[in-house]
Amino acid sequence: MAGILVYALHDDEGNFNKNSLGAISEAAKLAGEIGGEAAAVVVGDVSDDAASGLGNYGAAKVYRAKDVPEGLAQPIVDVMAKVISENDFGYALFGGGLLGFEIGAGLTARLGAGVTMEVTDVKVADGKLVAERPILQDSQIADVGYVEEPGIIIGRLNAFDPNESGGSAEVVDVDVELSEWSSKAKMVERGEQRGADVNIEDAEILVGGGRGLGAKEGFELAEQLADSLGGAVAATRAVVDAGWYPYAAQIGQTGKTVAPKLYLAAGISGAIQHKVGMQNSENILAINKDPNAPIFEFSDLGVVGDLHKIVPKLTEAIKAKKGS
Ligand SMILES: Cc1cc2nc3c(=O)[nH]c(=O)nc-3n(C[C@H](O)[C@H](O)[C@H](O)COP(=O)(O)OP(=O)(O)OC[C@H]3O[C@@H](n4cnc5c(N)ncnc54)[C@H](O)[C@@H]3O)c2cc1C
Repeated sequence: MAGILVYALHDDEGNFNKNSLGAISEAAKLAGEIGGEAAAVVVGDVSDDAASGLGNYGAAKVYRAKDVPEGLAQPIVDVMAKVISENDFGYALFGGGLLGFEIGAGLTARLGAGVTMEVTDVKVADGKLVAERPILQDSQIADVGYVEEPGIIIGRLNAFDPNESGGSAEVVDVDVELSEWSSKAKMVERGEQRGADVNIEDAEILVGGGRGLGAKEGFELAEQLADSLGGAVAATRAVVDAGWYPYAAQIGQTGKTVAPKLYLAAGISGAIQHKVGMQNSENILAINKDPNAPIFEFSDLGVVGDLHKIVPKLTEAIKAKKGS
């Protein structure tokens, strides 16, 4: 029986991360097809109810390491490596996100395993998992199989949807002796970045801000517009790299993938690496002073002009229409 092990990240209030829940549901579906079980690893202060509640998403078992801190990759690698070596797991599946990437990479090195990252789908062929990974700037899909077990699969953010199926998981407490190097880093404080409190993956309206906003302060315009629309603010990598906005809001190849009802791009050129993260938005509206900006090639509505003049007027008009 080749099971699939998932890491389930939680915040300080004990809420599990949506991508982790999605990975558990995906693992449960796939495990059923290869004749195995899905299980999850949790660390830190997770109550019996919260741990067994992961059964509602398809986990048959939850391995809990209470003394291991949440949020640091290496100690979690220790836990997962132990659980995999002592049980019959053919695969480890991660739902994406920075910590998932770091743990997945560490686990790959520790186990000498094969890894596929940025996976958007997983299928079964001849009783084994095959990961689908977009390549060549998302223009093609590569099928990646594993020659040996365990195989490590790291999903792209939002690749797997949580599915509540009912049920309760058996909770197994595990004692893990951490590797020497795993105790070198200490968690001083966990916090949310500005912008990360709004879950941009779930927002129906996103105002994306790019270098055209001119400076960090320019994001106030984007925030005011997003507020007036009841939406959230997203960003390009250029502005994240410049320190204008937090990474949590980055859309694109090396950021998040979103599909809101409306994506309003302000001062964004529309580079392919940005496009791949937002091209599935239902409606794309772009404001750019350059009529030849590539973003207009895939926008439903384009406004050519200076965003510093247009955005405040648009915000005012929306507020007036809403009577606020
Ligand atoms: C491996 C790799 C991965 C990458 N991953 C990502 C990723 O995940 N996400 C991402 O976004 N990028 C990513 N990039 C970077 C990407 O190639 C672009 O550099 C980036 O998206 C450009 O950001 P931008 O549109 O904000 O800036 P720019 O390309 O500089 O565009 C700014 C736009 O604003 C317009 N503008 C300027 N002033 C005004 C004004 N006053 N009013 C209206 N319009 C104005 C300009 O005409 C221009 O079109 C990646 C690149 C590489 C190589």
